[in-house]
Amino acid sequence: MRTAVMTGIRGPNEIRDLPRRDPGPGQVRIRVHACGLCGTDLHAWHGDFSLPSFPAVLGHEPVGTVDALGAGVTAVRLGDRVGVSWTQRGCGRCRACQEEQAKYCGQPVTWVENGGGNAEYMIAEETGCTLLPDGLDWVSAAPLFCAGFTVMSGYRNAAPRPGDRVAVLGMGGLGHLALQVAKAMGHETVAATRSPDKVESLRRLGADEVVVIEGHAGKAVRDIGGVDVILSTSNDMQQNGEALWGLRDEGRFVTMAIGNDPIPVDPNLMLGKQLVLKGSMLNDRKDLVEVLNLAAAGKVRPVLEVYPLEQVQRAYERLDRGDVRYRAVLVP
Ligand SMILES: [Zn+2]
Ligand SMILES: [Zn+2]
Repeated sequence: MRTAVMTGIRGPNEIRDLPRRDPGPGQVRIRVHACGLCGTDLHAWHGDFSLPSFPAVLGHEPVGTVDALGAGVTAVRLGDRVGVSWTQRGCGRCRACQEEQAKYCGQPVTWVENGGGNAEYMIAEETGCTLLPDGLDWVSAAPLFCAGFTVMSGYRNAAPRPGDRVAVLGMGGLGHLALQVAKAMGHETVAATRSPDKVESLRRLGADEVVVIEGHAGKAVRDIGGVDVILSTSNDMQQNGEALWGLRDEGRFVTMAIGNDPIPVDPNLMLGKQLVLKGSMLNDRKDLVEVLNLAAAGKVRPVLEVYPLEQVQRAYERLDRGDVRYRAVLVP
């Protein structure tokens, strides 16, 4: 099977012909139709997110058709249209797993163990598969399995109230979906970006206001009246710290970006306005199902650059330069 492999840190991504595997007990094989390219893939390419070995098959936003079942698989059927999320199964024995919180398991089974979706076929745990709603096309569905899932969890983690004004900070693959989720939920929305060239497309995606940040991010948001919620996908931690100043009283800031630097937080600001700063990742599976349904209803539409699998290296390089608008998807 044609497979895109990462040959090493900052090494080229190449197409190789690897043997197609059969699913083991509790696993399924999927004929991949599309797989999104995530910022985390780029972190892996840079060596910020360590992989056990190279060459490695990445891709954690895969969707496709189930074409083989391992022993004991009951819920997933041949021909099902599914996608696979990052954590496919917990170890089953740790405290988190006993509490049915496999997302916190320290030894989960993920794409790292099973191989990712940048290939014609992939193996996944049955428990990692989620059915796609009818009518949702492959390339639109793919980015929802990490980007869409992440921002839906972020939105829920912000404990949004009706009437809240919601800002999204960092308008990339995650941010452009967070904006559409907030709009679909009926909020007045603010898109905050450093890229003036994104203004028009962000308005089309549902931004009631677009703030182009030149200096202090919080001042820029405060200047337009402040917001109740900030959904941040920005990995500029200085900017995140500044943006806290854009929150109204009892505002909530949810951070979803991976980074190596601390977020500078002013304690007096936090207590004076009783702000909440919360981290958020891929949370409950119901968040994924919710964003899939929003997309099937046409309320969330990923804006995509679609590449054949053979152009995997070009897609990585465009993402690395910040050129992708707004999510790259690879089609084997
Ligand atoms: Zn566990
Ligand atoms: Zn991801």
